[in-house]
Amino acid sequence: MPNNLGTSERPLRVAVVGSGPSGFYAAEALLHGEMAVTVDMFDRLPTPFGLVRYGVAPDHPKIKNVIKIYEKIAENPQFSFFGNVTIGKDISVSELRVFYDAVLFACGAETDKKLGIPGEDLPNSHAATEFVAWYNGHPDFLGRKFDLLQEIACVVGQGNVAMDVSRILCKTADELKKTDIAQHALEVLAQSKIKEVHLIGRRGPAQAAFTPPEIREFGELADCDPVLNPKDLELNPESQQELAEPANAPKKKNFEILKEFASRTALSKQRKFFIHFFKSPVEIQGSGRIQNIKLEINKLNGPAGKQKAEGTGQFDELPCGLLFRSVGYRGVAIEGVPFDEKKGVFSNQGGRIVDNNTVVPGLYATGWIKRGPSGIIGTNKPDSTETVGKLFEDVPKLTVCSKPDTQAVIAFLKKKKVCFVTFADWKKIDAVEIARGTALGKPREKFVRVEQMLKAIQ
Ligand SMILES: Cc1cc2nc3c(=O)[nH]c(=O)nc-3n(C[C@H](O)[C@H](O)[C@H](O)COP(=O)(O)OP(=O)(O)OC[C@H]3O[C@@H](n4cnc5c(N)ncnc54)[C@H](O)[C@@H]3O)c2cc1C
Repeated sequence: MPNNLGTSERPLRVAVVGSGPSGFYAAEALLHGEMAVTVDMFDRLPTPFGLVRYGVAPDHPKIKNVIKIYEKIAENPQFSFFGNVTIGKDISVSELRVFYDAVLFACGAETDKKLGIPGEDLPNSHAATEFVAWYNGHPDFLGRKFDLLQEIACVVGQGNVAMDVSRILCKTADELKKTDIAQHALEVLAQSKIKEVHLIGRRGPAQAAFTPPEIREFGELADCDPVLNPKDLELNPESQQELAEPANAPKKKNFEILKEFASRTALSKQRKFFIHFFKSPVEIQGSGRIQNIKLEINKLNGPAGKQKAEGTGQFDELPCGLLFRSVGYRGVAIEGVPFDEKKGVFSNQGGRIVDNNTVVPGLYATGWIKRGPSGIIGTNKPDSTETVGKLFEDVPKLTVCSKPDTQAVIAFLKKKKVCFVTFADWKKIDAVEIARGTALGKPREKFVRVEQMLKAIQ
């Protein structure tokens, strides 16, 4: 290591791969840390902010205000953004290491887990992620078709992503038209014939992973009533014990909201949102497309706090024309980075990438690719701080890069004809999107094709 690494003569050079929350919190921790650091952030999309742009629901605009914090981070003169550059394709990990002393992966969990049951691949069975990305205008999902002419949709899973998908299906076009939902999605949703949305969870109301504001919203929709079987709210002693724990206050709140839903009698709205507990899909049936879903009735087993759903051998059937699974996400491997197939994350110890438990010098991970798909946006901040702490600790042992120069990276990308997007370019895209939205009474109308984005820059 040169003895001036981390000083203003030779700042530590870090490539951050991914511009979602974990990437920006990592950049912040690096730039405000104990040494001089230059951060170059790469994203495979021309637009920054990861799931804040392409995951967070369009009807929850306040959550997206966090972008203002990321924009401040991007103003730092030691920060550069290279959008529209895919690591592992446009530039390999070993090529990156020529220009950077360390590479920090913040590339999220871009694929989903499957249910692993027969019939899962029938037409009209989708990953919730695909639907989310489509209604949020993600360029990779532009051509997707979702058959909303069906009357009954099922959403498997009870986390907040399942709630987002259900809510978008349950809302009227009027409730969505002033949001930044992609216009192509709004047009299809406006023609929706969906009358029933069934949310299916394998455990009980005391274990559901959704949070109180998300479930409460279903009691306030313009044309949809929440419905549930009061029998599902009968708690076993272990679940009662769980809800009495102060740490489970949000779950207790969920339970109260569900109880209020179950007590409603005047259900006059056009759509119904059915909340099912203690059921697991075991088979999806149909010819040519989904028609039916076979569910096994579960009971809970185990001590309080560790109760698991166990099949009872009794079954139920639900007609269903459209299905979304939302049972977890997985990261996507990048060549040159050890991948933990079981967990779907980059193999790491506290953020240091490891290969068979041996640290790979100079490679780090944060966010969903480090810990898996858990937590809210804010959870990524302490996570990134931890990883950056490890990186700083390792600086004396790092192999320094041979071309410590962002201009050399630019020359490399230009030579490879990679049309990269800077943060200033993104701000141009941003301004045009906002102007397009104003014309429609929306906060923004996103470009849904990469070519459109690149054209807006010119
Ligand atoms: C549908 C959905 C809704 C959510 N809603 C909320 C909410 O309302 N509130 C909340 O607090 N949290 C919400 N979350 C959780 C929150 O979005 C995550 O905690 C957070 O986005 C994880 O951050 P990340 O940086 O690890 O990953 P991401 O946000 O996924 O960012 C990863 C980035 O890496 C880029 N990338 C991937 N591969 C490469 C590559 N090879 N080369 C270059 N770039 C690459 C991607 O394009 C992406 O921009 C939601 C999550 C989902 C899925």
